[in-house]
Amino acid sequence: MSTQTGIGYDSHRLTPGGPLVLGGVRMESEWGLEGHSDADVLTHAIIDALLGAAGLGDIGQQFPDTDETWRDADSVELLEAVAARLHDAGLAARHVDATLMLEAPKLGAHRDAMRERLAGALGLDPRHVNVKATTGEGVGFVGRGEGAAALAVATVEPLVAL
Ligand SMILES: [Zn+2]
Repeated sequence: MSTQTGIGYDSHRLTPGGPLVLGGVRMESEWGLEGHSDADVLTHAIIDALLGAAGLGDIGQQFPDTDETWRDADSVELLEAVAARLHDAGLAARHVDATLMLEAPKLGAHRDAMRERLAGALGLDPRHVNVKATTGEGVGFVGRGEGAAALAVATVEPLVAL
C-alpha cells in the first residue's frame, strides 16, 4: 500500500444570523451557514477528501444526519473522529489542501487559526494543511451570496511509513 489521494466537495446555504464557522473558527458575520451540524463547509470538504483517500465512503455514510450525536456538532470533532477511523484502517493523514468559495467576509485574518485548528485535529503540522479562499466574482450561488462551497484534496499514507 502506498500514498492514496481523495477529493472532497461540499456546499451550504447562507442564512441571516451567525455565527459563521469555517475551518473550526467561529467568526463574526451577519450571515451563517445552514445545516445539521455547525455547517462548517470547509471542514466537511476536508473530511470527504480524507474519507475518499482512505476508501471509507463519505461523510453521510460515516456520520448520518439521522444520528442525533452529531446535531449542531463542532465539525472539528467529526474531523477528529475521521482521524481515529483512518488510524483504525492503518492510515494517517499526510497533507490537505482546500479552497473555500465564499463572497464575504474576507478570511485572511482567520486563515492561520483555521490551519492550526484543522491540523491539530489531524495530528499534522499546520504547514501540511493549506487553506485558500476565493470569491464567486458576483456569479453563481457563491457570487450572489446564497451559499458557500469548498473543495479539498487530501493525501493519506500507511501508518508504518510514517
Ligand atoms: Zn456540509
